[in-house]
Amino acid sequence: MMTLEEFAGKIRESCENVVFTGAGISTESGIPDFRSPGGIWTRYRPVTYQEFVASEAARIEAWKRRLETHEAHKNAKPNIGHYFVQSLDAKGKLIGLITQNVDGLHNLAGLPDEKSVELHGSNRKIVCLNCGKSFDPDPIIKNLVGDFSSPKCNACGGILKSATISFGQAMPQEAMRQAQEWTVRAHVFVVMGSSLQVQPAASFPVLAKRNGALLAIINREATPLDEYADFVHQGAIGEFCQRFSALIADG
Ligand code: NAD
Repeated sequence: MMTLEEFAGKIRESCENVVFTGAGISTESGIPDFRSPGGIWTRYRPVTYQEFVASEAARIEAWKRRLETHEAHKNAKPNIGHYFVQSLDAKGKLIGLITQNVDGLHNLAGLPDEKSVELHGSNRKIVCLNCGKSFDPDPIIKNLVGDFSSPKCNACGGILKSATISFGQAMPQEAMRQAQEWTVRAHVFVVMGSSLQVQPAASFPVLAKRNGALLAIINREATPLDEYADFVHQGAIGEFCQRFSALIADG
């Protein structure tokens, strides 16, 4: 296993770096992850895509959840982890960022859209499942008061849904293709804040490693791929990025 200094040396030398992030990079912005104690999974069961399409009751359940978290998500600001990824790009050291997050915080930190792939979509948009028209979430969510029925498209009457990928929904093809292309090009592949338990997303670090990349994992708890990695840091991302940024500053 590599030391922190050795890993910093690799990042200093390499411009072919890919970062892969999960919910753990956004907890320090006040957005809870799914699997930590108190995380969303411990309180709710997921509404699948098939249930959402088939049942008004399921849609209302999904919108009620969205109502609970909307303000926190809307007001969340990027943290040092998001700015760290942006700074790699600013130094010309980032092929691209692949994220499982739907919160849009990497882009708010200044990472250009063409440098990021959101594998699970974005909750900063709402889309019509029938005609594809997209909407700003705010005015739609403001209308969900009292005994509401699920929102419909003002153009075609179709069902509206957050532009996120639900369980049971196909992964977005172009995002998957782009993520795979970046992954096989990576010389260094850095995972930050993912439990690496969700497929197919968790297959990217394996693909990177198989193609000869150095694999680094920064996460508060152990992941199933730690044994496979060249560098593992078990701890908070904010603290890590602060130290690490200083180590690579002269690169
Ligand atoms: P996860 O909840 O499965 O795992 C998050 C991991 O991050 C955990 O292992 C946890 O120990 C670690 N972690 C939490 N805070 C940390 C910190 N400050 N520093 C270091 N590590 C920290 O999340 P996942 O792997 O992204 O997969 C869950 C799914 O949930 C994804 O599909 C994602 O789309 C979705 N999700 C997204 C958001 C978001 O957009 N912010 C939030 C919750 C869930």
